[in-house]
Amino acid sequence: RIGTAALAVQVVGSNWPKPHYTLLVTGLCRFQILQLLKEKPYPIAEVQQLDRLEQFTNGHKSEEELGELSEQFYKYAVQLVEMLDMSVPAVAKLRRLLDNLPREALPDILTSIIRTTNQEKLQILDAVRLEERFKMTIPLLVRQIEGLKLLQKTRKSKQDDDKRVVAIRPNRRITHGSITEDEEEEEDHDDVVMLEKKIRTSSMSEQALKVCLKEIKRLKKMPQSMPEYALTRNYLELMVELPWNKSTKDRLEIRAARIVLDNDHYAMEKLKKRVLEYLAVRQLKNNLKGPILCFVGPPGVGKTSVGRSIAKTLGREFHRIALGGVCDQSDIRGHRRTYVGSMPGRIINGLKTVGVNNPVFLLDEVDKLAKSLQGDPAAALLEVLDPEQNHSFTDHYLNVAFDLSQVLFIATANTTATIPPALLDRMEVIQVPGYTQEEKIEIAHRHLIPKQLELHGLTPQQIQIPQVTTLGIITRYTREAGVRALDRKLGAICRAVAVKVAEGQHKEAKPDRAEVGEGEDCKEHITEDAKAESITDTADLSLPPEMPILIDFHALKDILGPPMYDMEVSERLNQPGVAIGLAWTPLGGEIMFVEASRMDGEGQLTLTGQLGDVMKESAHLAISWLRSNAKRYQLTNASGSFDLLDNTDIHLHFPAGAVTKDGPSAGVTIVTCLASLFSGRLVCSDVAMTGEITLRGLVLPVGGIKDKVLAAHRAGLKRIILPQRNEKDLEEIAAHVRQDLTFVLAAGLDEVLNAAFDGGFAAKASLEHFNSKL
Ligand code: ADP
Repeated sequence: RIGTAALAVQVVGSNWPKPHYTLLVTGLCRFQILQLLKEKPYPIAEVQQLDRLEQFTNGHKSEEELGELSEQFYKYAVQLVEMLDMSVPAVAKLRRLLDNLPREALPDILTSIIRTTNQEKLQILDAVRLEERFKMTIPLLVRQIEGLKLLQKTRKSKQDDDKRVVAIRPNRRITHGSITEDEEEEEDHDDVVMLEKKIRTSSMSEQALKVCLKEIKRLKKMPQSMPEYALTRNYLELMVELPWNKSTKDRLEIRAARIVLDNDHYAMEKLKKRVLEYLAVRQLKNNLKGPILCFVGPPGVGKTSVGRSIAKTLGREFHRIALGGVCDQSDIRGHRRTYVGSMPGRIINGLKTVGVNNPVFLLDEVDKLAKSLQGDPAAALLEVLDPEQNHSFTDHYLNVAFDLSQVLFIATANTTATIPPALLDRMEVIQVPGYTQEEKIEIAHRHLIPKQLELHGLTPQQIQIPQVTTLGIITRYTREAGVRALDRKLGAICRAVAVKVAEGQHKEAKPDRAEVGEGEDCKEHITEDAKAESITDTADLSLPPEMPILIDFHALKDILGPPMYDMEVSERLNQPGVAIGLAWTPLGGEIMFVEASRMDGEGQLTLTGQLGDVMKESAHLAISWLRSNAKRYQLTNASGSFDLLDNTDIHLHFPAGAVTKDGPSAGVTIVTCLASLFSGRLVCSDVAMTGEITLRGLVLPVGGIKDKVLAAHRAGLKRIILPQRNEKDLEEIAAHVRQDLTFVLAAGLDEVLNAAFDGGFAAKASLEHFNSKL
């Protein structure tokens, strides 16, 4: 019931890799607990100060005895201090303190300096009476003096050097024999010895071993209260834990790899083929210094999950490193070990986590690395990914080289545009385009639905999702290149059904109310309404739902709400001045409505929808071409003049105004849209187009054709106008998608306009030619 009051003056430490804190406190006085007021969350008690009180209370009792005791104590203390090296400032100061401090304070101070066990220290703290305290401390002093004498004898020949340290905190190994009950300190000491042993037996590189041994030498001499103690110890523990030489054995068999890849993923043939080639080369030639694979494609197309499958086929550990938003190079390469809280980078951390030196590291979202004042993380990644350099990758925290050459790196990105060129140069880009509707249906039924059922504890006997419903979800509730939103929607359906099933089970427990009225063979259209009710009407508990619960369009609407996307295309093309373009974004292809209107004015062109410079130039090009060809196509402004901008202002708008757009591929769409505006004719509602234009009316090729075509297919369009030189890109498109669409390959704008309008867009070239002859 006795304690010591103290003031915490400093707290240092960190939570990494495990919580380790050091408190620096100033002791104030002893106290006694009178009454415990509260125990939780921390104890609160009423206390009474004890220190020095007894001097006054029973001071008269044996002043002399105390005087004698304190005199004796003082002598021993002086003897002890004088055995130490007086040239050390701390010792000299201690010597002065012995004379200056009041004698009553000395037992406490000396006990903290000499070598004692924690228990002995506690006993001294518990000794409230000064006399008792003196009596208890004297034997400790004597013991220390004897220890030092012994030490000096053994070390007489080679003196001084370690004396200072030895003196203040006598060297453990030497005093070990003389002091036996020193348990706690021994324990720490044991830890350090264990650590040293681990370091010596670990398989770290020679260079690392040298550094570690040096550090452990420092650690042994360091007082534990020093913040650096924890730092050094953490460092050494990490060094021991790192898998310097530990690896999993590759079990690679191409046939098995093909099966794993096929089982885990539907479609993505090109990607799987390339991955298999890569693995085959690895099998033939061990230790491949090959390129780093980089999967580029919209979100949710399975890039990460292919990475995981690769690890599975190789029998390797898998670790994902998310690089999105990383803007500090020390995230990759670690902080220097100069301040509290410094850490190794993600690469070394990842290796520690997986515990082997040949995992598969998936560098996710390399296109989203950012630069900042803290350096460029992409530059740090260069070293990691370069097979010529990465066998001696040096993390700032480790400060010794670690061999990364066995690690298999795979990167993923949404676009190559924002990957720094030097980094891109080291990677082999494999495009992973979005899926077609048919592929999505297959993926849903083969992979996503079974996975969701398992996640929600459902069985196919309880829920049935027909393919038409899946198609409904894909077309009406999602508009994406990948399958992530689809997966989420399926999850929502499973949750709703899980509620019903759980309720049903609850009711089956009360059989008197259970009454199954609906026939087994009731088909969709008959039971639709009843089922829709059973899904939604939670108040009605009279009937357990019929199993399996069939998810039809009604149920879909109840669970997911009204459809989010409609086939809006035809609706928006019911007036002149609208055309559908195809755009490529990092999230896949998209269709884009371009709108134009004209009004009285002074020939100004207004562009809205956050357009980039290239797009603005396309708009100017389109207008110039139309103006120069106005007569040929009989295009007039509102007052019938062939000078299209005469007294006319034009406004072009690209919807989804919040998204910045740029690129040359909208050229043909702008021309078509303006041609429609000035001719007053409607563009066919099922045509979409893409292509760059020139001033002479040529159509130049553009990128992202596959994604764009898929987007048009998703939106239910039928005819697509593409630059002729993009014909080769059509080969990549699945046959069934190609079947659904008509492709018009245009070399010039004449062909584009002809294909975009019903009945063509005839030029009056011959007539004009004839006229001019007259
Ligand atoms: P990404 O990394 O491309 O953004 P993910 O790999 O996270 O996408 O994939 C999202 C989800 O879609 C995962 O659950 C994955 O299993 C599933 N998925 C994507 N493509 C396929 C496919 N072809 N076959 C089976 N599942 C797929």
